This record gives sequence, C-alpha cells and structure tokens, in this order.
Amino acid sequence: MDSLDTSIEFLKGVGPNRAKLIRNELRIHTFGDLLYRFPFRYVNKTKYHKISELSGHKDDVQVIGKISKLQEVGNGRKKRLIAEFSDNTGSIQLIWFKSINWIKDSLEINKYYIVFGKANLFNGLISIAHPELEKYTHEKTKKRTKFYGIYSSTEVLIKKGVTNKVYSKLIDELLIKCADKVEENLPAYILKKYNLLGKRDSLIAIHKPNSKTILNKAILRLKFEEIFYLQLRFIFKKNIRKEKIKGYSFPIIGKKFDSFFNNFLDFDLTNAQKKVIKEIRNDLGSGTQMNRLLQGDVGSGKTIVAFMSTLIAIGNGYQACIMTPTEILSYQHYNKFVEVCNLLNINVSVLTGSSKLSYKKRVKNELKSGKINLIIGTHSLIYDEVIFKNLGLAVIDEQHKFGVAQRSKLWHKNKLPPHILIMTATPIPRTLAMSVYGDLDVSIIDELPPGRKNIQTFHSTNRERLKLIDFLKKQIDSGRQAYVVYPLIKESEKLDFKDLMDGYETFSRDFPMPEYNISIVHGRMKKEERDYEMQRFIENKSQILVSTTVIEVGVDIPNASVMVIESAERFGLSQLHQLRGRVGRGKYESFCFLITGDKKSKETVIRMKAMVETNNGFKIAEKDLELRGPGNFMGTQQSGEIPLKITNLIQDSGMIQKIKLLVEKIIEKDPKLANKNNAVLVKNLKRIINKKEIWEYIS
Ligand code: ADP
Ligand code: MG
Repeated sequence: MDSLDTSIEFLKGVGPNRAKLIRNELRIHTFGDLLYRFPFRYVNKTKYHKISELSGHKDDVQVIGKISKLQEVGNGRKKRLIAEFSDNTGSIQLIWFKSINWIKDSLEINKYYIVFGKANLFNGLISIAHPELEKYTHEKTKKRTKFYGIYSSTEVLIKKGVTNKVYSKLIDELLIKCADKVEENLPAYILKKYNLLGKRDSLIAIHKPNSKTILNKAILRLKFEEIFYLQLRFIFKKNIRKEKIKGYSFPIIGKKFDSFFNNFLDFDLTNAQKKVIKEIRNDLGSGTQMNRLLQGDVGSGKTIVAFMSTLIAIGNGYQACIMTPTEILSYQHYNKFVEVCNLLNINVSVLTGSSKLSYKKRVKNELKSGKINLIIGTHSLIYDEVIFKNLGLAVIDEQHKFGVAQRSKLWHKNKLPPHILIMTATPIPRTLAMSVYGDLDVSIIDELPPGRKNIQTFHSTNRERLKLIDFLKKQIDSGRQAYVVYPLIKESEKLDFKDLMDGYETFSRDFPMPEYNISIVHGRMKKEERDYEMQRFIENKSQILVSTTVIEVGVDIPNASVMVIESAERFGLSQLHQLRGRVGRGKYESFCFLITGDKKSKETVIRMKAMVETNNGFKIAEKDLELRGPGNFMGTQQSGEIPLKITNLIQDSGMIQKIKLLVEKIIEKDPKLANKNNAVLVKNLKRIINKKEIWEYIS
C-alpha cells in the first residue's frame, strides 16, 4: 500500500533519477511533500489566440497551428532550433536553445499542434521560446481546463525535461494514486462550524480546480489548516517548555541593579522601557528559562534595558554576556559601561575576533573561573572553547545579523540553558518571529525617549550633489557631524571598494583640511586604525565619517545629524532604515539623504518612497516583508526555516488572529486534548512534533 510517506521514486513517471533531481531541486521526498506543493498561479487553457491577435509581449499565449519549416541556426553554444509556426491569420517563430536534437526528431512538419507559452516581440517578429507543445486533436481542446496550475520551478529541472507540463502530469498520477489515502486532520466540529472543505477535496481542488469557487474554498481550507496547526504547536510547545525547560531562578533584583538605578542612571526611563524591564524581571525570577524577543525601533533605547537585565543576573551571582554583530558595537557598549561597571564592582571585558591571542586566553580563563561577570563580544563568544562558570543571561543585540545555528550554540554553554534576550530593531510579525525563533515571548518598546526630532528624509540623484555639499557645510558649521555610507556588502568586492575610496577623496576635496576632518572606516582596515578613526569621530575631532555598512547597526553618536547613503538602490529597506537610525539619536534635528542613479527600477522607486514617507520601523518592516518575502527579510535563506506553504503572514494576518483565539479556546476548554472530538488533533500534532523540524528548537 502506498502511503503519503512513500518515496516519489515510486510514482509513475518519476523513477530513481528524476527522484534524485526533484529531491535536490525542490527538497521533495515523498508523495506527501509533492501533494503539499501548490501551484502559485493558474492559467486559462480554454482560451485560444489567433496569431494575428498577438502584437507584443504577452504571457500565457495559446495558439493552434502547424509547423511549416524547421531549421537549425548558429552553431556551438549559440545553436538554436527555429520552427515557423502558422495558423490562417499569420505566423510566428518557435525557438529552442536546448535539447535541440531531441525536439527536432519529435516534431512533424505540417501537423497541427497546440502551442502554449510566453510571446516575445523582437525586431517586429513574434516568437515563443521553449513552448509547451502537443499534437492537436479535437478531443484535447475539449478537455482543457480554465485553471491550469503553474508550479514554481528551477532552471535545472526545466533543462532536464521536468517542465510544468511534465510536473502537472505527475500531479495527475499522484492524485489518482493517493488522494483517497488523505485523512482529514481537522475535527468535524471545526469543519462544520467554519464551513470548510474536506482535506481530500481541497488537495484535489488546489491542484486541479474546476471552478473559481472551489479553488477559493480549497485555498481557505488549506490556509486554515496550516495556521491552525502552527498555532496549536506553538501553544502546546510553550506549555511543555514552561513545565520542562527549567532555567536559573534569580530571586532578587539585586544590589547592582538597585545601585545603578538609584545612583548612576542619568535619564528617566521611558514608560515602555520600564514595562519591558518588568517583564524581563518577572521571567528571570520565574524558574523557567526566559526566551524573549525585545523589539524596539532604532534609537528607542534597547541597550540600557539589556544592560540593566545583566545587572539582575550579576546581582544574583551569575555571569552575563552581550553579543553584538560587529566589533565596533562591542567596543561601543564596552566603553559606555566600563566606567559604571568599575563603580559597581563588576568585572567587565570585551572579546572579539581581532583580540590578541594572549588577551583572548586570559579572558577565556577568567570566564571559566568566574572572575569576569560581564562579557561583551562578537560571535567569538559562542565558539566551543569559550567556557563560562555560570552563564545566567545572554543578550543578543541586533539579532538579524546572527544565523540560527550561531544562536543555538548559546544554549549549550551550561547544564541549564541561560536566559536569552534577543533584541531587534526590525519588527517581526509575531507569527514569523515564532516560526523562526520557536516559541518566544515578545516585548515591545513602542515609544522613543523624549525630545527626539523627526528625521527628514530626501531622495536625490547624483546631479544634486552641490546642494548636498552646501547643506552638509551648514550642518557641520553649526557643530553637527555627518555619516556618508557606501555599499560594500562583501568586503572583497573590488569595485565597491574603489567607489568608497573615490568617494572619500571627493569628500576630502569638498571639505578640505584643516577646516574639516574626515574619518574613514571599512572592514579591510586593521582594528587599531579603525578604532583610531572611529574614536576621532566619536570625539568630534572629525566631522564626517565615510564608511561602509560596518556602522549599519547600533552605532550611537547623538551629535551626528546627517546620514548620506550612496547608491541607496543597493540596500534593502530594513537596512536603509537601520542606517538612517544612526542619526536622530539626540536632541538635534536630523536628515537623511538617499542618493541613487538617475535610472531607477520600479522597486527602487517603491523603496525610496517608503523611506521618504515614513520613519516608522514597523511600517518599513512590513513593506520590506511584502517586497522581499519572509526568507530574505529575516536574512535567513535556509529553506525550511519558515514552514508556511500557503499562508501569507501579512495578507492573512486577520485570519491568523482569529484562528489563534480559536486554538486558545480549544486548549483552555480541553488542556490535554483528551476529549474524543479532539483525538484527531493529538494524532497529527504528535506526527508533526516527531518530525523535529530544526527551527523549532532554536532559542
Ligand atoms: P537602540 O534601541 O537603537 O539600541 P540605544 O539603546 O543605543 O538605541 O539608545 C539610543 C540613545 O538614546 C542612546 O544615546 C541612549 O543613551 C539614549 N537613551 C536611551 N534611553 C533613554 C531615555 N529613557 N531617555 C533619554 N535618552 C535615552
Ligand atoms: Mg542598539
């Protein structure tokens, strides 16, 4: 008997080679996987075009006609096969670049074919490249569907002959073979209450719909199922974790915290900061491991919350660490807190990749012996040879710069996992956060410290440079400082590096010494040089800092009031917002200039417009998510991290909310899911949890 767990190898039309190909390209292993990979759009195949109607570029063209001539042109890699294809209104070309011999042998002159594909107009000639093609029969035209599913594919798959047509046939086979083995996984009372289509019918309908109505019902049902189980799993796991994953309990707030709060804190905390500290304090005292995400827009004051949280851990006799994505940020935090730590009798150190070996060794020893109370550093902290005496709290600043695997390492630094506080300026919709981080709690800082001025953002092109220089001069003459950032995503990019150096020279000419001083910072510099340059800027000895994205996150110099972003089209929205967040951190009115070339793609225009229109990180993140999709948005490319197949976290957020409430109600009424009406839930939940998807186990 074939079950949904049967390997796709055993599906008619697949076999071992294709199975391997599909596994590699699409990560599809079983019948069940295949069944749950849905078309991303549908085309109407009952519609036919006359060739005379085809005038320009057009997707999804379908024509009946015959091939009058077949001819190979060019040679070597430029070789292609061209067919003259005509109906009684005109003719077009069909073109193949690959599998030429095979196709040539299979085509017959003067026979009628149905041709389907994308029409292109080039030099007044209309052509279809690599069309779907089948022999015409009257029968066939009758059997065609209005909703022909198009599945996403890869170049390799198509090259190896697994075209959409082939794939679609596999799905036909699959449905014949296993549709009847699909078991309903939602309880009958829910199906009834929400008038949902059954699972089997939904799966058939989503692949091979025969009307818009049934397709919509299928989509609704499959989304419902997906969200329902996601929520059920989160709530269940959370309950399990609360029972099982013990954490250190910090019963007191401690003298360190009190002393800092009463004697050294030089501003009033905002209400939002107070609220969040309270939430963290409760978690730390509960005896359960804290797993909390702290969201707050750039400049909202997350650092002080992090620091005060470490004071609680230290006051209870434990060690704490703060992990940052860049060395600059590690040192910034360290410099900010080293003095007050001394006053509080806290031993603080910093550890980064470029620390000297002998120093590293000493720090590691002192972490192991417990001499160091607070360690600030980059991902060097998570290497296996860094051993703590008793790490009680780990703060991860600007999480989006850390990979999943890196974060998970922190878990294993003790017998009991440390409490974890993840901080981010990129707000993540809760469901997305949970699917990436597991079941964490979320705290939000939703207000900025008082007295902040709005940042005014402008989009300009290279041609308006003179005006910009004038503006910068005025700002600098009134005592402010400016950043100029160049895209250098990989430090090895030669061309980018040249842009940066050229830019530095240009600015040096426009802002000559001794009146002005310019600092430059990039990843290729030695740490000492970089520190020196950075320090000059921090002390306002230089007025302009030309840099790469090494200053993207966290850097905090309240006197800086202008951010100039060069080649802004090359940055993602969240990144632009982060960069802009380097200014407007003090009491001065601040400005951001996004410089792009004259030629702008549609997406660039959308991004620049979003930046100009809003300073609100939540709105920016939403737009970014919309433009890039969850995978890229999180900076986590690994597929499988975000397990949603059909739900759209933004568009379906209303539905997500409703289903969440529903699931909560079910669990409240029947906490152990012991009621026999819910038996089906227990069964499926077990199956899902046993699958051990990696993303669920990460802090
Ligand atoms: P982010 O949330 O981006 O990490 P920071 O923690 O770096 O922001 O804080 C930005 C600036 O605001 C810092 O200079 C910090 O000292 C200051 N700050 C933080 N909280 C307050 C507050 N409650 N009142 C005034 N200034 C504050
Ligand atoms: Mg920060």
